[in-house]
Amino acid sequence: MLIDGKKIAAELGAELSGRVAALTATGVTPTLAIVVATDDEGTAWYVRSLVRAGTALGIEVRRTELATDAGREEIRAALAAASTDPAVHGVICQTPLPAGLRLDDVADAIDPEVDVDGANPISLGRLASGSPTAFAPATAAAVLAILRHQEVPLRGQRAVVIGRSTVVGKPAALLLLDQHATVTVCHSRTVDLPAVAREADVLVAAVGRPRLVTNDYVKPGAVVIDVGTNPTPEGGLVGDVDTAGVEPVAAAVTPVPGGVGPVTTMLLMAHVVTAAERRGETDQPG
Ligand code: NAP
Repeated sequence: MLIDGKKIAAELGAELSGRVAALTATGVTPTLAIVVATDDEGTAWYVRSLVRAGTALGIEVRRTELATDAGREEIRAALAAASTDPAVHGVICQTPLPAGLRLDDVADAIDPEVDVDGANPISLGRLASGSPTAFAPATAAAVLAILRHQEVPLRGQRAVVIGRSTVVGKPAALLLLDQHATVTVCHSRTVDLPAVAREADVLVAAVGRPRLVTNDYVKPGAVVIDVGTNPTPEGGLVGDVDTAGVEPVAAAVTPVPGGVGPVTTMLLMAHVVTAAERRGETDQPG
């Protein structure tokens, strides 16, 4: 069975609309600020899709466009300025960054209270410590949202995450652990990856290798979440999972496109709304 990420995103969006309406009624427009310092076409497409998604929900999405050769301090200053803007509730720094810079070099300039894509190491630390105030990276949160929506049991189940990046693999593993799964994290040095992956009741692929996960990696009846987005020479996208090969073995698998991606966008918007609601609570008199 294929899991329909667009349908899940639409359902989440419907829930979110009510929360946005409640904020708007108090004069607050939930607002996301995106700092962009690239002319990468894929990034431009993604940012446009965020603007569209935000507009449809009543969330304002502002772009701060910096030069493609912007330096570390300039990007940090833009992130810090957006973080302290009282009209802004969420801040993200779009990648790729100018040559020589990594997200890690600038992400701690985002205040954790508005760090809606969990980029600041403080957010990952809060996640690791189980703090309810932590914003997980939206992609990792989307993995869990899909599993929750599909009512996949996690308590006591074996979960295997392939990939240990700070944006996807590690936070997804922490969120699965928080749901009482027994979690194994794999990476490029893992020995006999297919055998480890076959132990999984829930298999999450966040690798960036087109169709790495074949049916040989999947225990019959497992649920497979494909986070990979690998561009094809034809201009399309393929995941890290050989979807057609895995579908007959797995209980369910997310397609690419149309799986994790749309849910990620909605979770990012949900984090902006949560940040706006929290600010409203702290602003209450008394
Ligand atoms: P990344 O930083 O490159 O990390 C990839 C991870 O995969 C690393 O931990 C690496 O191991 C591991 N790996 C690489 N080759 C491997 C192999 N042959 N066997 C086992 N492990 C291997 O990538 P990322 O940022 O986490 O992104 C992963 C994928 O998710 C990409 O396709 C990306 O485009 C996609 N993505 C999708 C969304 C979405 O919203 N759908 C959002 C973010 C990312 P080492 O640590 O040992 O190097």
